[in-house]
Amino acid sequence: MTSPADVAPDHDVVDHPGGASLEVRHLRKVYAGRGEPVEAVADLTFEVRPGELVCVVGPSGAGKTTLLRCLAGLLPATSGELALGGSPITGPPPGMAVVLQEYGRSLFPWMSVAQNVELPLKEKGVAKARRAELVAETLAAVGLADVARSYPWQLSGGMQQRVAIARAVAYEPQVLLMDEPFAAVDAQTRFELEDLVRTLWKRLGITVVFVTHDIDEAIYLGERVLVLSARPTVVLEDVEVGLGADRDQLETRGDAEFARLRTHVYELVQQAKQGVRSLADAHLTHPADAPPPPGA
Ligand code: ADP
Repeated sequence: MTSPADVAPDHDVVDHPGGASLEVRHLRKVYAGRGEPVEAVADLTFEVRPGELVCVVGPSGAGKTTLLRCLAGLLPATSGELALGGSPITGPPPGMAVVLQEYGRSLFPWMSVAQNVELPLKEKGVAKARRAELVAETLAAVGLADVARSYPWQLSGGMQQRVAIARAVAYEPQVLLMDEPFAAVDAQTRFELEDLVRTLWKRLGITVVFVTHDIDEAIYLGERVLVLSARPTVVLEDVEVGLGADRDQLETRGDAEFARLRTHVYELVQQAKQGVRSLADAHLTHPADAPPPPGA
């Protein structure tokens, strides 16, 4: 039986005033350089609801970064439509922030931590007093209030990535895009940063798209996991993650449902690596996870 206490944590997640929807319709991206053109993304269609946290996994070279760069408006699509809150994405949209893997390169070494976080707010035209408030609030939220005057090179890799997250969050985006943001930090820091992302996501109500090649990370973080095929890329499966709103590194990862999802997504990624581009062609060992037979 479900008591009100059991469902209460979900209320945090349902009410997301800060987020905006993202729509991707038949995205195709061909890199046309001097050599042979590379069709990185063939046909991607999916939607992210306002305030949802969606992870994207797939084999290396599947087009995850390409997808994210198209969503960020940094790379034009060859064809298809991308929209943020119903408006077409034709360049970097004002309501979007991006966190990348290379924190070392994304922070300015000659600026203090606080100045790094403040810079995009200046460019956005935020008034000085409000800028100071946002910088202080977000540095406190990521546990870096004490190092506001330090320089990035004085901090560990994990702390530098926290600065990059604070900078993105201070910008008050409707959508936060993250591309393998924790790939270069140690395992313990990675767990802490994963929890930080979920905490900020729940508090701010923003929409998050998180690209990773780490299946466990995708399941731990996501409300849904989009599994991409190998290149040329399509969505192989859109997997619902029914692990509830409150997650814990030990408990959640020890949960039977977590193990089932991990096996399922792992199998899908293996199939994707072997060139499977539709669920109907996939051979999954768990009958319950297999797609229904044609006509069912
Ligand atoms: P992933 O992030 O899943 O590893 P990418 O989006 O980085 O995949 O790359 C998808 C494919 O597009 C790969 O085959 C890659 O070599 C190719 N690619 C990526 N960027 C470029 C580029 N600027 N020019 C040509 N090909 C590219």
